Amino acid sequence: MRIDLHAHTTASDGTDSPAQLVENAARAGLDVVAITDHDSTTGWAEAAATAERHGIGLVRGIEVSCQAGGISVHVLGYLHDPENAELLTELDKARTSRDSRARRIVDLLAADLPIVWDDVLSQVTGDATIGRPHIADALVARGVVPDRDAAFRDFLYTGSRYYASHYAVDPSRAVRLIRAAGGVAVMAHPFAAKRGRIVSDEVIGDMARAGLLALEAHHLDHTPEQAAKAERLATDLGLLVTGSSDYHGSGKVNRLGDRLSSPEVLDAIVAGASATPLIAGR
Ligand code: AMP
Ligand code: ZN
Ligand code: FE
Ligand code: FE
Repeated sequence: MRIDLHAHTTASDGTDSPAQLVENAARAGLDVVAITDHDSTTGWAEAAATAERHGIGLVRGIEVSCQAGGISVHVLGYLHDPENAELLTELDKARTSRDSRARRIVDLLAADLPIVWDDVLSQVTGDATIGRPHIADALVARGVVPDRDAAFRDFLYTGSRYYASHYAVDPSRAVRLIRAAGGVAVMAHPFAAKRGRIVSDEVIGDMARAGLLALEAHHLDHTPEQAAKAERLATDLGLLVTGSSDYHGSGKVNRLGDRLSSPEVLDAIVAGASATPLIAGR
């Protein structure tokens, strides 16, 4: 079984539509793929329809933007109720704040570079969750940088003079909200220090006590040492581990199936969720 539990689409900052994600997952030989857009489930319906057609397994999920003590944390939610009011309130707050934050970043960039807000809007599909990758795409379209990676390296990295943060919920609260919405929560890339500051083991312990199922130990942004550290902490806290690609289409080097999760952890996700069924595939 080839199971990849973390991928983005044009519903946030991926470049594949939800249908294309599922088609590419089938092409990559995956048996199960999860759709986990940032702070949004608007890709679920299209992905589900395509998964039914292709006979591939689909975990409907989300990647919730969180923050603890000023440090960014991502919590993956799987198979929750997408209409849950309390969770939606937090997601709406994050998405609204992401919009004003992206405008703030563009204002800062515009002092030095040829970029206006409309450049960013033309990179966003429909009501997608806006993120720095869309600003990166606008800089690419303007010919300022060759690709997203260069845009992040030169201008958009966390801590850059052009950086601004956005509102995000506390990660333990996000875990409780996902659980209360009938879903299962997994902490994404817990030790990916290359992305910016990482939270302490104590914060992860709090998330475990809030009902976290697993740590995403295996992720392209982890060194082998960071993956091993995540495995050890998971064992200490009584958590499972997952492995996932965090695929963003052509927006990042991550390829579908780069990292995989076990059938046992998928079973635990399905067993722990009560709101949305797995599309089982063939
Ligand atoms: P944001 O959610 O707006 O803070 O932007 C973070 C997103 O940018 C994450 O989903 C990352 O996957 C993506 N990202 C971070 N660094 C890079 C990079 N070097 N190239 C492409 N995407 C990146
Ligand atoms: Zn992303
Ligand atoms: Fe993430
Ligand atoms: Fe992600």
